[in-house]
Amino acid sequence: MDKAAMRAEAERLMREAMENKALVVKHGNTVIMATCGKCGAVTKVSAPKGESRVDYVCKECGAKQRTI
Ligand SMILES: [Zn+2]
Repeated sequence: MDKAAMRAEAERLMREAMENKALVVKHGNTVIMATCGKCGAVTKVSAPKGESRVDYVCKECGAKQRTI
């Protein structure tokens, strides 16, 4: 393997690692099943990793609230 090929291989591996990282971040989102305090309907809320309190709007009655 010559130097150019080695550099190309290193770049490819780095690009793959970055793509994997992006994928992990994307899949790191937490899905919270939030129960509406007004009508009791359950709404699926997507929250960033480590975040459990996010604002959302109930899909049934439209009440704005925050997950607990
Ligand atoms: Zn509701």
